[in-house]
Amino acid sequence: LVARMRPFGTTIFAEMSALAVRTGSVNLGQGFPDTDGPAVMLDAAAAAIHGGRNQYPPGPGVPELRTAISAHQKAFWGLDYDPDGEILVTAGATEAIAASILALCEPGDEVVCFEPYYDSYAASIALAGAVRRPVTLRAHDGRYTFDPAELRAAFGPRTRLVLLNSPHNPTGKVFSADELAQVAALCAEFDAYAVTDEVYEHLVFSDAAAPHVPLASLPGMRDRTVQISSAGKTFSCTGWKIGWACGPRPLVSAVTRVKQFLTYVNAGPLQPAVAVALDSPPSYYEQFRDDLQRKRDRLCQGLTEAGFAVLRPEGTYFVTADITPLGGTDGVEFCLALPERCGVVAVPTQVFYDDVTAGRRLVRFAFCKRDEVLDEAVARLRRL
Ligand code: PMP
Ligand code: GLN
Repeated sequence: LVARMRPFGTTIFAEMSALAVRTGSVNLGQGFPDTDGPAVMLDAAAAAIHGGRNQYPPGPGVPELRTAISAHQKAFWGLDYDPDGEILVTAGATEAIAASILALCEPGDEVVCFEPYYDSYAASIALAGAVRRPVTLRAHDGRYTFDPAELRAAFGPRTRLVLLNSPHNPTGKVFSADELAQVAALCAEFDAYAVTDEVYEHLVFSDAAAPHVPLASLPGMRDRTVQISSAGKTFSCTGWKIGWACGPRPLVSAVTRVKQFLTYVNAGPLQPAVAVALDSPPSYYEQFRDDLQRKRDRLCQGLTEAGFAVLRPEGTYFVTADITPLGGTDGVEFCLALPERCGVVAVPTQVFYDDVTAGRRLVRFAFCKRDEVLDEAVARLRRL
């Protein structure tokens, strides 16, 4: 194995899901729903498979999906992207992120990101031979914030891009207009690109301080931003791995150049089905959000009753909690012991930080599960 990949073992998600299977635990570790997405989408996929759409689709993605992504970006975020040349379909958001970094970073270039960061970020940055410059999110009064001076200090002459995930996994933070403006101003000052991971764009809860705002919609940012999302979260089909990248023609063309040699194309018959899902009425998106908000409330209450210090998320389908009130001092030890102690799997957020002290006592639970599963997990955790 090449040196730059040696620090990376098995992903924490695979590791914790395997632990859940091995111990028969309730799995609130890896973030995937346990119910299917819209029936019209599933039917459309079956129809596409039986309708002969089983060969290589066009490189940028099937036209009806690119058209549907374009309409979605316009309807929800007021952003205009031409389906021909400004939208690329990828193998999930994961490939879009990797291809963007590989397309834009020379070896030695720096990537500013917020930690805790989604685990593929560090690996994709390393694959490109680039260097990550994390800015730490810290919990204060129940909210995760960063120090603006630390953000500024992370930028420098080698900064090539900022990789921003909002709504943010694992904290559930939704970046405010002011925070986004700080990021945008630094991108302009240092002439950096932005790559935005917005896979939880439709999961900002009604009591959040701010709605979701794509960084690309800030003045001057559209021209320097690759905006990424995926069907996996919004349509509960994480196994389909259909994602996309939108941006100005030169950036999407660069990302496409790389993507074509990573996977060439992906999942032909699933693409028209995602197009159908994206055309869902507004009520679909509202109900999806409201359902997850109820689940958030259900799990947050249960975790609080079980003794955790809960950091209530404003978005995503994850909640982080501090284990200190339960006598825990190290999230990794806590999560490895949890299946034995009570038959529940969670993820230690420490593994998403370079500064491990910042996340040492935090663990993450996923609440994208049926109510009875959440209730069973809480009943078990209350035995701690
Ligand atoms: N980014 C974040 C923040 C995520 O939580 C996930 C989780 N699945 C992904 C990217 C990957 O998305 P996909 O499955 O579409 O590759
Ligand atoms: N995004 C999901 C999570 O954060 C899992 C994705 C994965 O397993 N790679 O749990």
